[in-house]
Amino acid sequence: MTDKNQFTFNLEKKKNRFKQSLNSGDFVVLFEIDPPSSDCNISAVVSRYKPFTNAVNGIENFTSGIAITDRKTNRASFDVFDFASELIDGDRSRHVVFASGRGRTQKELIELVKACAAGGFCNVVPVSGNIFKEDTARSVYKEIFAESIPVINSLKTDENANNLLNLGGEVNPFKYSQVALHTQFFKLVKKLCAGANFTVVQAGWDILKQQELRWYLEGRGIFEPCLGRVILLKPETIEQIITGSCQGIFMSPDFLSILKKESKFGLSQFWAAQWRRFELQVAGLRWMGYSGIIISGVENEAYVKTAISKVNSALKEFSSFEDWKGAYLNFLARSEMFPYPYKYYKYSNLLETPFADSARVSSDEETTCTCSEKFRYYLNKFQAEGLSFRNPKKDHLSRLFYYSPKSCPKGMIHGTCGEMNHNGTCCLNPLKECLYSKMFKIALWKNEFEPFEAN
Ligand code: SF4
Repeated sequence: MTDKNQFTFNLEKKKNRFKQSLNSGDFVVLFEIDPPSSDCNISAVVSRYKPFTNAVNGIENFTSGIAITDRKTNRASFDVFDFASELIDGDRSRHVVFASGRGRTQKELIELVKACAAGGFCNVVPVSGNIFKEDTARSVYKEIFAESIPVINSLKTDENANNLLNLGGEVNPFKYSQVALHTQFFKLVKKLCAGANFTVVQAGWDILKQQELRWYLEGRGIFEPCLGRVILLKPETIEQIITGSCQGIFMSPDFLSILKKESKFGLSQFWAAQWRRFELQVAGLRWMGYSGIIISGVENEAYVKTAISKVNSALKEFSSFEDWKGAYLNFLARSEMFPYPYKYYKYSNLLETPFADSARVSSDEETTCTCSEKFRYYLNKFQAEGLSFRNPKKDHLSRLFYYSPKSCPKGMIHGTCGEMNHNGTCCLNPLKECLYSKMFKIALWKNEFEPFEAN
């Protein structure tokens, strides 16, 4: 593994192709891959990927690149910086590297991001890190997770790093309760305020949720570019999602039964349905103002070529939002995308129009704070501050509404993780309420949401 401390910055500002394309409104297409296992023969892996990287680099109609994930489904993967450096020669500014905080201290995560920048990978998305299929609350308590927000904050104040870096922030908008959705939005805004320059959206199939995110950001006057994530569904990918290998990715029971039906008609019909779903999703994202897509599940030369021709045809096929909507409703909207009884959407007129300024806020769900939760708040506050109300001894606790950060197995003190269950319980313990769900209820009662976004 490369020693990340050995890197020095070449302060000469270089062209960043990915950033330039996002800022000039060109549609960016990235192909996502995961680093191989740490005990692999890296030369063999790199030569296996050669036709794939050549195909991605050879795309002419779009700014294209590779998005390399880090510790996405297990911790035993090859070091992301070493893998990216071996895999990619030539212009590295067209690619994006994810940097996971799982198993890393804040300092180590910062060093990793700086190493990426010094090595030419200036588009980096720091993330706090996924939970894995085999995780339990107890095992996760023993691990460290460096959160992305303090890392973004620190890198933005480091002049050398800031000159080179174009940082991204990730968000999971596929949440179907007021609490689960709003805590995601707050955290994204906090990342953008800390200095993230673009947003990467979790993968999902509910286009209403993708529009809801755009409307929310535009409603708040936030216009940083957003990249949608599109998974090309293969039978094995569906299996992985069902069995929990891809934590945070949600598929509704209704959508799942449609996929099962599609798979019964034979492989060629299954593929025809998946490519059509892919085209409609890509076109929908474009009409909703997304600046590009990250395609997952396409890892060989032939698939890259097909995917690009589908992106091309999807962007040319529809002459208006209405035109696209008709085709989308025909093909996809036969299924409910929400996990009943959780069906919260922030706006009541999603899909009626492409324009955020026509958004009508829905009155579907109102989370409430119970008397015992209010009593608990006062009790916690009293315990934290003692009798010196004017001079709190534990200031950081006031930002958590006096809840202990220890109640989060990942130790997240800057915002919720992307995996909170729809009912507000913790992804690692469905019997316990997520720390940020408890905070959200107190915030609603007190009408005080600043602590969620304050850096
Ligand atoms: S308590 Fe909330 S933020 Fe912490 S791990 Fe559980 S779901 Fe994630």
